[in-house]
Amino acid sequence: MKDIKNVLVVNSGSSSLKFTVYDMAREEKLANGLVERIGSDAANMVYRRGDGPKAEKPVSAKDHAEALQLVCAALTDPRTGVLGSLDEVDAIGHRVLHGAEIFKEATLVTADSLAAMKTLVPFGPLHMPPNIGGIEACQKIFPGVPNVAVFDTAFHQTMPPCAARYAIPDEYRSKYGIRKYGFHGTSHHFVTLAAAEFLGKPADEVNLVTCHLGNGSSLAAIKNGKVFDTTMGLTPLAGVVMGTRSGDLDPAVVLELARKGMSPDEIDALLNKKSGLLGVGGINSGDMRDMVNAAAAGNPDAELALEMWAHRIVLYIGGYFALVGGADAIVFTGGIGENSRPARARILSRLACLGVDFDEEANATRNGPCFLTKPGSKVAAIVMPTDEELMIARETFGLVAK
Ligand code: ADP
Repeated sequence: MKDIKNVLVVNSGSSSLKFTVYDMAREEKLANGLVERIGSDAANMVYRRGDGPKAEKPVSAKDHAEALQLVCAALTDPRTGVLGSLDEVDAIGHRVLHGAEIFKEATLVTADSLAAMKTLVPFGPLHMPPNIGGIEACQKIFPGVPNVAVFDTAFHQTMPPCAARYAIPDEYRSKYGIRKYGFHGTSHHFVTLAAAEFLGKPADEVNLVTCHLGNGSSLAAIKNGKVFDTTMGLTPLAGVVMGTRSGDLDPAVVLELARKGMSPDEIDALLNKKSGLLGVGGINSGDMRDMVNAAAAGNPDAELALEMWAHRIVLYIGGYFALVGGADAIVFTGGIGENSRPARARILSRLACLGVDFDEEANATRNGPCFLTKPGSKVAAIVMPTDEELMIARETFGLVAK
């Protein structure tokens, strides 16, 4: 085995670059942080060594390559750094939004695989260029260090055609790639492995419904450790009601809005940025904490938004439970899934019919990883904090150390 110790994880987004450095011998987080508002006059860097305090300072970063230079300087700074030199970075893992049907698992970056990633820009015009830009910047700054691309869609590539296909003629899939891909794959993967371990079951025998509930939310039906179905589709707009996204609706709604004179970009903005909890709740926020507070204060629109949110999630949990032939556990993760006790209670209080013996006290007091069901519950409900960066580091380490 090649001697690999330190793995740098890079998440390069449209105006930010997030990073984490792990010592994989102990899976210890050595440092993490981000450069945000790249390209603006107000660029800012946050840096944290180990579990220490966060240090924040304004910086000048006109592009992602400059942002990465700043990260490298911080990591090797004699006072605050965690590396003697950049030579101590043994491998780099990159979060990449879309692998389409080409990338079914984490992949070593080569000239060929990078060229293939560039053909996928139309699947993620906002995310793919900075994702690829992050890889190219690392190739320049760390010559000879292996880069690994970890795709948000890859874990969902095990979906059978009956789940992944849309019921339209196949020529639209073969010509335009129109099918269900699913997102948050790295998170669903991480919590699947962690939940199997928590439940004491081999990962390839576990059946789960994993619920990644944050601003963006998706559920996955996990059968024998693999994705059988997931709620997001061609894009992250499909599925459950989210912070600002509508989730599922009759596709004819889009046609109707177009016939009323809205352009594709206007409909896109309406459904992705102005809908969901934000669009329904009437409080000018799509944040779950705000919505729970407003509903508790008697706001009927906020109450309706939460009911619609829970309704759709319960619908998918029930459907996925049947699809996987009965689940060992319902798993909650993401900002809401890990933290919002009232939001979880809205869901779990409705699942007794599936054999979920909801423990309200556990939900009100415990912190993850933990059970939210009583001992002996036929089906468990658990909180499992996600860690997408660690999953990317593990996949990178696994591939490079081979
Ligand atoms: P993103 O999809 O942007 O990664 P997150 O996973 O960070 O989103 O989730 C954001 C959501 O989680 C927000 O709706 C927020 O209200 C909720 N949330 C985060 N922390 C808490 C908390 N401590 N209590 C309740 N809700 C929380």
